[in-house]
Amino acid sequence: MHFELTEEQKMVRKLARDFAEREVLPRIAELDAAARFDKGILRRMADLGLLGIPIPEKYGGGGSDYVSFGLACEELERVDTFLRVILSVHTGLVSLGLLQWADEEQKARYLVPLARGERIGAFGLTEPNAGTDVAALEAKAVRDGDGYVLDGEKTWISLADEADTFLVFANLDRSRAHRGITAFIVERETPGLASSSIHGKLGVRAGNTGSFTLTGCRVPAANRVGEEGEGFKIAMSCLDNGRYTVAAGATGLIQACLEASVRYANQRHTFGAPVGRHQLVQRMIGHMVLQAESSRLLYLRAGWMKNRGLRNTRETALAKWAATEASFRAAADAVQIHGAYGYSNEYPVERYLRNAKGAVIYEGTREIMEIMQGEYALGYRQDRPLSRELPPWPSDGAGGA
Ligand SMILES: Cc1cc2nc3c(=O)[nH]c(=O)nc-3n(C[C@H](O)[C@H](O)[C@H](O)COP(=O)(O)OP(=O)(O)OC[C@H]3O[C@@H](n4cnc5c(N)ncnc54)[C@H](O)[C@@H]3O)c2cc1C
Repeated sequence: MHFELTEEQKMVRKLARDFAEREVLPRIAELDAAARFDKGILRRMADLGLLGIPIPEKYGGGGSDYVSFGLACEELERVDTFLRVILSVHTGLVSLGLLQWADEEQKARYLVPLARGERIGAFGLTEPNAGTDVAALEAKAVRDGDGYVLDGEKTWISLADEADTFLVFANLDRSRAHRGITAFIVERETPGLASSSIHGKLGVRAGNTGSFTLTGCRVPAANRVGEEGEGFKIAMSCLDNGRYTVAAGATGLIQACLEASVRYANQRHTFGAPVGRHQLVQRMIGHMVLQAESSRLLYLRAGWMKNRGLRNTRETALAKWAATEASFRAAADAVQIHGAYGYSNEYPVERYLRNAKGAVIYEGTREIMEIMQGEYALGYRQDRPLSRELPPWPSDGAGGA
């Protein structure tokens, strides 16, 4: 075991950090206040290669390892959650999902433009009446000649109004519950697809979240990902990748809380001393150090396991649970350290607090994360081998750093 990063990992981390600090940080307060998604930022991320970091070069990506991908997520969320959400959804859930499950023809047609950032991906699992309870989803797929007709509504979909390529889950046979769920690629141009944005969100206001409907959307059989009825398994394995990005990003948010709190605690004086000199403030900052470093170790272990091609559902979920809960606490403490000033948008910590809440809900709520770990420990949950695993890094299978 060793803890050093490779030169490539450091380079990817620096690329993400420089981009976020130079090009987004100066504008983020304004974008957040206006709840405005800046398409130029998304374009720039594509141009810099940030959207395809862990996708092999032969499919148009950067060919970097999963640890590099996690480091980039951490750096992006250190500036704002919406940047990391783009990577979570476009790269983590959709592109890595296709890398794992799509056939070669689908990869050439859909994964390559996603990895290059020419097309943007969205992940359509959640519905108005089905979030945690995925098996309850009502979107329907009906076989029709050489294709399928899809009808349904998806909501709380990140990038709904920005995406070109939707990975959609619909049920072919609701009587079979999760065994009927099937995954499809649906393109924006498909007649019957319409999207809209959700307004009034607590956090991730600079990001785009919305809904989309499928009304008699015809997709060719070639757009079915995996076999009929494999959609539930595919969705869950996509979440192994999405949760990894959430864990890494939440670590970046804790780091941002720590940096802002240290800065403020050294400047603000009470009782003739910087507030950082008061031990109860030191306790909050000490916790942030613990939370940042332990969350980082947990996600890096999951990234290392991904590099090795080891099944990491448990470890990734643990990292996601730990980091997201810790980030919410760190953000609440960061506001506390800033006193009344933390309660306004004069400082970034109120934005951190609002942004931190979402990650305790999406990609597996806190309650589901708790149940999973309890079940693993009790021996009630085991991971069975999948018919297709995420390829290790490097993709020749030699295992990586
Ligand atoms: C900002 C944001 C972005 C999102 N992006 C996407 C996206 O891109 N794609 C997508 O498909 N979805 C997305 N989601 C949706 C998200 O994944 C769901 O909100 C989440 O899965 C929870 O579902 P729900 O909101 O329907 O809550 P519900 O499932 O209705 O749960 C309500 C509450 O009950 C608890 N609960 C439910 N079942 C149990 C149980 N068995 N035991 C204990 N407690 C339980 C939950 O933990 C929660 O606290 C996004 C959500 C947000 C907020």
